[in-house]
Amino acid sequence: MESGEERIFVSVRLRPLNSKEIYRNDVSDWECINDKTIVYKNVSLSASDRSMYPTAYTFDRVFRSDCTTREVYEQGAKDVAISVVSGMNSSVFAYGQTSSGKTFTMTGITEYAIADIYDYIVKHQEREFVMKFSAMEIYNESVRDLLGVDSSPLRLLDDPERGTIVEKLTEEVLRDWNHVIQLLSVCEAQRQIGETSLNEMSSRSHQIIRLTIESTSRELLGRDNANTLTAAVNFVDLAGSERASQSLSAGTRLKEGCHINRSLLTLGTVIRKLSKGRNGHIPYRDSKLTRILQTSLGGNAKTAVICTMSPARSHVEQSRNTLLFASCAK
Ligand code: ADP
Ligand code: MG
Repeated sequence: MESGEERIFVSVRLRPLNSKEIYRNDVSDWECINDKTIVYKNVSLSASDRSMYPTAYTFDRVFRSDCTTREVYEQGAKDVAISVVSGMNSSVFAYGQTSSGKTFTMTGITEYAIADIYDYIVKHQEREFVMKFSAMEIYNESVRDLLGVDSSPLRLLDDPERGTIVEKLTEEVLRDWNHVIQLLSVCEAQRQIGETSLNEMSSRSHQIIRLTIESTSRELLGRDNANTLTAAVNFVDLAGSERASQSLSAGTRLKEGCHINRSLLTLGTVIRKLSKGRNGHIPYRDSKLTRILQTSLGGNAKTAVICTMSPARSHVEQSRNTLLFASCAK
């Protein structure tokens, strides 16, 4: 992963066909022809289709279906995630339709990144580090603590110095690696699972796992001029990007769908504006997701977006939407 001028690193991860897709004789239509380019190779494409959609898409990095999550992490997220130890805020996103591999990808990346951050801290004894772990879920534009005892919605407050704060969000000071594993499994168990007609196990919420790192030079510890660096890295497993109409099953689903779309739409707008380097108005305040992530998006913050997609012909429309989002982000 190169450390270029651009602050948003955009990659695409293709997953293998799953058993359901294989069972219904679906075929894989996408191929990564090099490190940066993914092509749609359906030869039976109609002429109108061919003129309407690009067949080749280029990103900072594309990952073939046989890439491991370790490789995706190393080449698509590590630099961004680890910059937190030097005081930079950052966010790593997984974006894609339900069952495309967001959670699969983000779960591994979160673990690898925290392990690397730990490793860095152990090797840098000249500074004293404090790591704090928190986790939240945004469901229906309502924020919930994934580590809290009760699940009542949390309020967002505006702090003049720290930006948007999630009131009463649990923050655990990390003790050791076992503590990390324990907290990650609590998050997983807490995460809301909404059953939809598209995918039984699909999740309709956004999950944010946030690691806040405070560090102070040991030499200056306790002195007035001991300035403490504070930064956060966010691991964001977004809700499925499919349109609400496709997986509508009931009235409540419509409500959820609209909210999810609004959050994703706002995120898309924010990321698109940031990637264009526009100094104009960036609508962070239009959704809970972007408010919470405001200080970790734009400015000096680093961002990595990993777009996950199914290679199946039956999902081509969603895959194109995902690639369109990815193209706008880079
Ligand atoms: P999402 O979070 O986008 O809805 P998941 O991460 O839950 O999707 O993935 C759906 C299923 O596909 C899971 O059973 C997961 O283990 C599997 N899967 C996803 N990506 C890959 C991959 N790259 N390689 C192998 N299996 C994968
Ligand atoms: Mg998921």
